[in-house]
Amino acid sequence: MLNIIVAGPPGSGKGTLAKTLAEKYDLIHFSTGDMLRKEVEQKTPLGQKVAPILERGDLVSDNIVISMISSSLDEHPQMHGFLFDGFPRTQAQAEALDRLLEDKGEPLNLMILLNLSDDVCAARILRRGTLENRSDDTDISKVKHRLTTYHTLTKPIVDHYKKQDKFVAVDSSQTPEHTFNQVKQCLNQIL
Ligand code: ADP
Repeated sequence: MLNIIVAGPPGSGKGTLAKTLAEKYDLIHFSTGDMLRKEVEQKTPLGQKVAPILERGDLVSDNIVISMISSSLDEHPQMHGFLFDGFPRTQAQAEALDRLLEDKGEPLNLMILLNLSDDVCAARILRRGTLENRSDDTDISKVKHRLTTYHTLTKPIVDHYKKQDKFVAVDSSQTPEHTFNQVKQCLNQIL
């Protein structure tokens, strides 16, 4: 069973890599960003609550995303590999995920971190914002705020996985294929 996290700054290509990995390795793909945007689109009570948070580029509270992931895992009681995209993003989320996977008897195998500079991230996000009409992706000050949040809250959780010897970083500044090939080599070593 393969359980992995795809992490990286906004604009690093997490979503693109996650989709390819989920398909090629037959993993169930959980993207907290996609789940939250769906709630916003459907104007659910949760969506209405989180809409301004996403718009500002702040993180949604740990409780909300942890319970979203917890119930998504509950929907898959059968044995299956999982891919977490954009989760965990804080130390509390990382610890909660450890517990959830432990309860399932399926520990995490690896956190894959996509590495690239803030400048390249910002340029990619602004381009995506125009193409996909994502309002949190079109305002440079909000994009910078998300990058700062990433460096302050999310990057430090790398240590959590390094301590468990479950961490690898790959260069994500080139093509999606280049990123995928590096990840494939890493996964070949643990599979
Ligand atoms: P990006 O990596 O470009 O920020 P995502 O789709 O992963 O895109 O996330 C979009 C937004 O959704 C984030 O800016 C944040 O507001 C919210 N979000 C997604 N995942 C989480 C999480 N694990 N914890 C808190 N907020 C989250």
